[in-house]
Amino acid sequence: GSTIGILGSGQLGRMLGVAAAQLGYRIHVFAPEPGPACDIASAFTHAPYTDTAALIALADACGVVTYEFENVPVEPLRAIAAKVRPGLRALEVAQARVDEKRFVRALGGRTAPFAAAGSPAELAAALAEVGLPAIVKTNRMGYDGKGQARVPAGAAPDAAAVWKAIGAQPAIAEGFVNFAGEFSLILARGADGRTASYPAVANVHEGGILRTSTAPAALSPATAEAARALAIEVADALDYVGVLAIEFFDTAEGPVFNEMAPRVHNSGHWTIEGAETSQFENHVRAICGLPLGPATLTGARVTMENLIGADADRWHDILADPGAHLHLYGKHEARPGRKMGHVTRVTR
Ligand code: ATP
Ligand code: MG
Ligand code: MG
Repeated sequence: GSTIGILGSGQLGRMLGVAAAQLGYRIHVFAPEPGPACDIASAFTHAPYTDTAALIALADACGVVTYEFENVPVEPLRAIAAKVRPGLRALEVAQARVDEKRFVRALGGRTAPFAAAGSPAELAAALAEVGLPAIVKTNRMGYDGKGQARVPAGAAPDAAAVWKAIGAQPAIAEGFVNFAGEFSLILARGADGRTASYPAVANVHEGGILRTSTAPAALSPATAEAARALAIEVADALDYVGVLAIEFFDTAEGPVFNEMAPRVHNSGHWTIEGAETSQFENHVRAICGLPLGPATLTGARVTMENLIGADADRWHDILADPGAHLHLYGKHEARPGRKMGHVTRVTR
């Protein structure tokens, strides 16, 4: 089929749809609520992710089904597993912070010290195990730093209060990593197992939300290579098909894995103008069984800035800058903390 099914209706799906259209594909969006991807979709199924009959109809209408939102429940997707890329194993591992960290450790990767907790008492034990300062995160579903609580050193932690603060649900306690910076590694892996990895990208967060990404990240060659090697190992171990993003902390001891996203990623938006093949096009190529394109930079340095909330009002000035590439996602309401668009600048 020449139609790609996309679970999720956000801006990632929208940009995937643009890349898909360039290669002659249509997109069919499936989501519980309309969003930026619907504007450019040729079909939209407005249904919950648990609607198995609707999922089967989507798979019948599409050559392949992918996702731009990694918290889609896995169980209902089993009915259409043969059509889903990246596969369900990747989705499953990436949905739970404890699982993804165990998985990466088993491959020899480094993570923060961590311990799982399913109750306030277990959280107290987990905090004692990982040490303070610590960060407690919900095991599932968090993004943009939501569902997290910082636990400072110096006083005995009130585990019951922390448990409540993150919504009284299964959690992970992580020892605080002293990092020099944060970076991500984005790679595409094709159905034939070949990979194309983008240069590592340095990420700056503000209030838990990605603010800017700059490629290439200024890393030691050893750290950059270790991160790239680990990302490829992760992708191989999952028999991954599509674009995979991994967030790392840059430390004196090398890269420390933070989390992965089994999808195109905000820290890869710069690739639209800043790389020979964008992450969106390479994702489409991978899931459609096509050869991957080169992931090399088109300039010496590329920066991407997220336009968050009222930042989008700057669009007029941004368009007046001949070096700026503006992307707006067509969201109607500029709420604080909401990603409205982004702007990319390539230094030749
Ligand atoms: P995203 O929107 O990237 O999916 P998220 O809500 O899943 O974010 P994380 O990426 O795990 O959350 O954490 C958000 C930020 O908090 C990180 O980018 C980093 O700045 C900081 N952070 C998280 N874990 C740790 C840690 N163990 N040590 C130090 N800083 C951390
Ligand atoms: Mg995350
Ligand atoms: Mg993150």
